[in-house]
Amino acid sequence: MNRIDDQQPGIARPGKVKEVTSLTNPIVKELRSLALKKYRDQQRVFLAEGLKLVIDALDLGWTIRTLVYSKAGKGNAAVEQVAARTIAKGGDVLEVSEKVIGAITRRDNPQMVVGVFQQKLQPLAAIEPKGDDVYIALDRVRDPGNLGTILRTADAVGAKGLILIGDTTDPFSLETVRATMGSVFAMPITRVSEEEFLAWRKDFRGLVVGTHLKGAVDYRKIDYAGRPVILLMGNEQQGLPDTLAKNCDRLARIPQQGRADSLNLAIATGVMLFEIRRGALTLDKAD
Ligand code: SAM
Repeated sequence: MNRIDDQQPGIARPGKVKEVTSLTNPIVKELRSLALKKYRDQQRVFLAEGLKLVIDALDLGWTIRTLVYSKAGKGNAAVEQVAARTIAKGGDVLEVSEKVIGAITRRDNPQMVVGVFQQKLQPLAAIEPKGDDVYIALDRVRDPGNLGTILRTADAVGAKGLILIGDTTDPFSLETVRATMGSVFAMPITRVSEEEFLAWRKDFRGLVVGTHLKGAVDYRKIDYAGRPVILLMGNEQQGLPDTLAKNCDRLARIPQQGRADSLNLAIATGVMLFEIRRGALTLDKAD
């Protein structure tokens, strides 16, 4: 084991577990900076917390740059296995104090394991919807909890990917990744401008269903079967802009009662997704 407190950044060599206990250690400072989008974007990485998540991500082929575990993980066979896999892939492994892992993840009761993974986005041109594939397109989603919940729900219904349109919250923020409960590793994410989306949509041979509070059609009356579907959801405050709404094949509404004038974005997305995927989801197929 190398002890590398108070050394310079960039010195972490793969192949060995390094012990770090100081919050002022340059590597720790660098990892803590990943709470900010600017540094995540610079390094094109993000943090994922929890042993199971890290194992799932490695199994799905995501590239790990650094594995961090707290002293509680020392001697734990599963942690040691993940550490060995990280080293085999050329990543760094750090053994840190609970205080350090708490500072990196900004939590009072941190997980024992944190992975730093390379960000991955799917280019729009790589999306080729077919059969009864479902994609979710989100217009300028602002709330990290909503985005994470939608990623998790999209994964749960077997959607094929998520398209983020315009200026959205970062899918790789700590809060979003936490809310996905691991689905961030299972759901391909694409980022586009509204213009790029509309240009791509012109060649899309399927059904584009927008959701709108002024939509004239009950969402249960639409026939979603037998063709690919793009489900288009509006921004939390403003809803779908006309530029997107007028390019939908159908504008669906979820009927409501009571005082609330709209549903939460993630809830509305869930309601829509389970209706669109109704025929595909059975308990027999669930494991
Ligand atoms: N003030 C916004 C508006 O006027 O559209 C409310 C937006 S709502 C909180 C966020 C998104 O959730 C909407 O753009 C729409 O996509 C979806 N949504 C919420 N409630 C809905 C409903 N009852 N029917 C259809 N879509 C709904």
